[in-house]
Amino acid sequence: MAVQQNKKSRSRKGMRRSHDRVTIPSVIYCACGEPTLPHRVCPACGKYRNRLVVSQKVENA
Ligand SMILES: [Zn+2]
Repeated sequence: MAVQQNKKSRSRKGMRRSHDRVTIPSVIYCACGEPTLPHRVCPACGKYRNRLVVSQKVENA
């Protein structure tokens, strides 16, 4: 097992963890009304920027 040679100070630990935060995802609304993530294909209708990108399978009942 690799062992660190010098102790990381509290300050260094804080600097390293300054990028560890979790960001709240921004939500946009598709033309079909479903909330989606920006720059993603809508999971409900398979469209991106009002253009059909992914064809949806017919739900088998
Ligand atoms: Zn949609």
